[in-house]
Formats: sequence, structure tokens, C-alpha cells
Amino acid sequence: MSSRALRPELPVADHLPGRRRERRPVAASPVVLVKHAAPFRMASREAHPENTVVTAGGVAIGAGALVVIAGPCSVESRQQIREAARRVKAAGAQMLRGGAYKPRTSPYDFQGLGRKALEWLAEAGKESGLPVVTEVLSPEDVDLVARHADLLQVGARNMQNYALLRRLATESKPVLLKRGPSATIQEWLLAAEYLLSGGNPNVVLCERGIRTFETAMRNTLDLAGAALVKALSHLPVIVDPSHGTGKRVLVGPASRAAAAIGADGLLIEVHPCPARALSDGEQSLDPEEFTALMRTLRPQAYAAHA
Ligand code: PEP
Ligand code: MN
Repeated sequence: MSSRALRPELPVADHLPGRRRERRPVAASPVVLVKHAAPFRMASREAHPENTVVTAGGVAIGAGALVVIAGPCSVESRQQIREAARRVKAAGAQMLRGGAYKPRTSPYDFQGLGRKALEWLAEAGKESGLPVVTEVLSPEDVDLVARHADLLQVGARNMQNYALLRRLATESKPVLLKRGPSATIQEWLLAAEYLLSGGNPNVVLCERGIRTFETAMRNTLDLAGAALVKALSHLPVIVDPSHGTGKRVLVGPASRAAAAIGADGLLIEVHPCPARALSDGEQSLDPEEFTALMRTLRPQAYAAHA
């Protein structure tokens, strides 16, 4: 077994590349130096062996049960988000997602409807009884977004936006921190460290796929990385199979795989009519497909209703 293999009996540092705990013969030194092994001190299990449970709008993430967050990539209209909320709630989702401020690769693509979309999202959440998660792109928007959302998403492109992380560290609302498309696990956990050390203990991590040489999928979903982060850190880890694969047909298999590796939750894009979606239609499930997926994830719950 390699020295970096995942062995729970080893200290966290022994799982990290180039980070070996210094071992000196005790007799040679009157003082045994205990260096902080992991650079992400507060996120590390060394600092906090128990799992952290983050509560967002009354939903506990990291408490053992798989939390499913679902909804459209973007909030497109009042009707669209109300319909999405009603359908994902009926299928058993516990939280509603929907983007109001969209980070798009091209400036010519749909950028989100901003404040109006936030209001519709909050209304749909209240109406359906689902707490809501939405992305905040810049420090100036944090106050407004925090008034409408229960969980504040930092998107993959912003994982290392330190001004945004520092601002969110002072928030009382929990933060969903997506992994950057090219971020190492250590960089991701150090980004979480900005939130924790700045005063916000309520951080949920989200694996959403990384960029590799593979071009057949939008991203490469790093489920082993998600499992490793759960071993290295006490923070809850959820998985986004929609952005992680970019393909509707892979969302189900990737969701079940994420549940199998012990993910604390899933973030799934669901649109009332994916063919008409203004963003990410090709990776969005329609409500029937989402309901079928939930049946495979929660057979007992569905059997009880049958
Ligand atoms: C999203 O969740 O809509 C999103 C833009 O995701 P990511 O930041 O992972 O690309
Ligand atoms: Mn999307």
C-alpha cells in the first residue's frame, strides 16, 4: 500500500502529497514538536473529528441522510420556478435550487434575471415549503442574496474569489462551496478555510466535476476525490452530477454512485421543459425523469406510498 493510500489510522497529513509529519526520535529532543499537519486547520478532521452538520432553512446536511437539492439551472420566469418547485417537492426533494445571477462562459449567453429572479425563487420556495439555494457572484450582492436564500452558493468559477469568500465568512447564512474546475483538493479545502477562519462555520462542500484531458463529458466527476474529502474533513460533502457530467443520461448513474460513496447530498438540475431551458438544458432532467431517479435513490420512501 502506498504511503498516500487512504488509511484512517494515519494522521491526515499522511494522505496529502508532500506533507509528511516530521518524526524525530523523542529521546533526542526534550520537546516533542507537534506541527499542525494539514494546512487547512479548521476544515481538517484532526481539528474536529466529528462530522459537522450544517442546517440550511431547517434542512440538516451531513446528518446521515442523503439531502436532495433540485431545480432549474436558471430562474427564467415566475411560472417556471413555481412549477419546478412543485414538481421537485412532489418527487421528494428537500431543497430548491435556481440561479438568479449566472456565471456564463460567454458574455453573450443568458446572464440570469437578478433581483426579480431572487424574489420569484424565494416565493416558490415558500409556496412549496422548500428552503432555497442560489449563487452569489460578487461581494456587493451578498446582502441582497442572503435576504432571499437559505444557502448561499459559491460557484466553481469563484472558488478562489477571496474577496467573496471573506465577505461570506461574516455571514450568518450557510455557504455551499463548489470545487473549482481546476482546483486540487488542498486548494478547495483552503478555500473553505477562508470561510471557517473568517467566522462562518456553516460550510457545505460540493464536488461538481473537474477539467481533465477527457472531452466526451463536460467535466470529470471526481467521486473518489469527494470520498477523500469526507475522510480529510468534517464538513458535509454533496455532489452535483449535472455539471459533473453535462449529460442527462449520466445524471442517474452518477447520482447513485455519489450516494454509494457516502455523499451527504445531491444538487440536480431539473427543468419543467429542458428543451426550452435558457441554460444547461442538455444536462437537466424533466420532472418525470427526476421522479424516476428519486424512486431508485429512495425505494423505501416510494414503497411506503405505493
Ligand atoms: C450552477 O450550479 O448553476 C453552476 C453554475 O455551477 P458551477 O459553478 O458548478 O459551474
Ligand atoms: Mn447549470
